Amino acid sequence: MRELMGWGRYPRIRGEERVSEDLVGSTRGAVLSRGLGRSYGDASLPPLAGGVVACTRLANRVLSFDDEGGVLRAEAGFSLSELNSIYWRRGWASPVTPGTQYVTLGGMVASDVHGKNHHVSGCFGEHVRALKMRVADGRILEVDERTEPDLFRATLGGMGLTGHILEVEAQLERIPSPWIYGESERVDNLDQLIHGLREASAEWPMTVSWVDFLSRGRKMGRGIVTKGRWAEPHEAPEKFPADPYRLAVPIDFPGWVLGRPSIRAFNELYYRKHGRRVHRGILNPNSFFYPLDAIRDWNRIYGARGFTQYQCVLPHADAGPSCRRFFDTLTELGGASFLGVIKDCGAEGKGMLSFPKLGISIALDIAMRGEQTRLLVSALNKVVIEAGGRVYLTKDALSTAADFLAMEPRFEAWNAVRRKWDPEATLRSALSERLMGDPS
Ligand SMILES: Cc1cc2nc3c(=O)[nH]c(=O)nc-3n(C[C@H](O)[C@H](O)[C@H](O)COP(=O)(O)OP(=O)(O)OC[C@H]3O[C@@H](n4cnc5c(N)ncnc54)[C@H](O)[C@@H]3O)c2cc1C
Repeated sequence: MRELMGWGRYPRIRGEERVSEDLVGSTRGAVLSRGLGRSYGDASLPPLAGGVVACTRLANRVLSFDDEGGVLRAEAGFSLSELNSIYWRRGWASPVTPGTQYVTLGGMVASDVHGKNHHVSGCFGEHVRALKMRVADGRILEVDERTEPDLFRATLGGMGLTGHILEVEAQLERIPSPWIYGESERVDNLDQLIHGLREASAEWPMTVSWVDFLSRGRKMGRGIVTKGRWAEPHEAPEKFPADPYRLAVPIDFPGWVLGRPSIRAFNELYYRKHGRRVHRGILNPNSFFYPLDAIRDWNRIYGARGFTQYQCVLPHADAGPSCRRFFDTLTELGGASFLGVIKDCGAEGKGMLSFPKLGISIALDIAMRGEQTRLLVSALNKVVIEAGGRVYLTKDALSTAADFLAMEPRFEAWNAVRRKWDPEATLRSALSERLMGDPS
């Protein structure tokens, strides 16, 4: 037994983690699988009463790869960083990549992750061809769109609650070089930011923006819009992109380090440093996709109390006004974040409970301050519910079941599939107890 936690280091739950190369053995009798624990909240944690969680990180073998067609089959614990280091050299990449490469294939499927190219490529699940799974009654099945379409779609974004994923077969994307051509531009306010993102997404396969959540008045929503694409061979350096030098955070920082004054100073500096001119150039893919991975254990800067990442999507029709309400609520309740990201999402995909839908996604880190943080999350949820949006389960730690159900008209249909395969809800997590009515 040990204390298990997600990337936000809140909550922490005592449980037994079975780490093994043999997923067939380790998932037997386990209540949940987990990968590298990069989900922020309680999605990868056992129920409060305990239970064995199978950790997949040692089950990371590549089982087959077709060099012509780019179809990869690997064990669920194969990580994106391993995939990148092997396949970027060979002209292939994961078609979807989240903002860290320290995630497993199983975790990418269970959260149905999205990346900077969601508006063109959708979620990772759109590129998954088949899964090998252990379902609740112990059977091991090969699952795809043809054999078990409901189970397949419920598993994409199903947060590990429909079965243990043992193997993943996915279609990789051909890339012209392992480098990125990117551009970035400063914008002065929220309208420019939303407009800039939409314009960029009409032309570029990858877009994202950093936003200063502390700017008010005319400057509300100022930020930096970034766009990119894989570089063509004639643009790219001949050498393979080096792994960036990694700094480490050696201790838990005291709380005041991430107070409003330091975040305000950081945001001002970051915004000004970019300057007015458009930046263009060839970028190392590690810095483009995974800037935070350059600082090992960066989650310790929030101190021992941890933090939560709040990520929601607001539908397009109402995105401008709801974004403004979101900003107002955040500042009224004293929320501050130096890590604010806004990204436009494309259409909903196959996953029955996947996060993205057509609209604007907002993500920010919030230091955990007990009741104050709960009230803030509840107020932000109110804005999201009124706008017809939803929060991302893999980041969430503080929403209530009532809020979740109000955001998630798809829950019943997804839960019917879950219950068909697992009538007693033997597969469960701290998140499913908190949000989905699983008895503790
Ligand atoms: C810095 C950072 C940036 C991020 N950026 C993005 C982003 O841009 N887009 C995005 O979509 N996400 C993003 N994430 C979230 C991350 O991609 C997901 O939480 C991902 O699921 C983590 O993978 P993991 O292997 O660590 O899974 P874990 O965190 O261990 O588990 C996550 C969920 O997957 C389930 N699971 C894991 N493995 C299995 C398995 N074998 N079988 C069944 N269920 C399983 C767990 O039960 C849990 O519900 C980011 C996270 C961090 C820390």
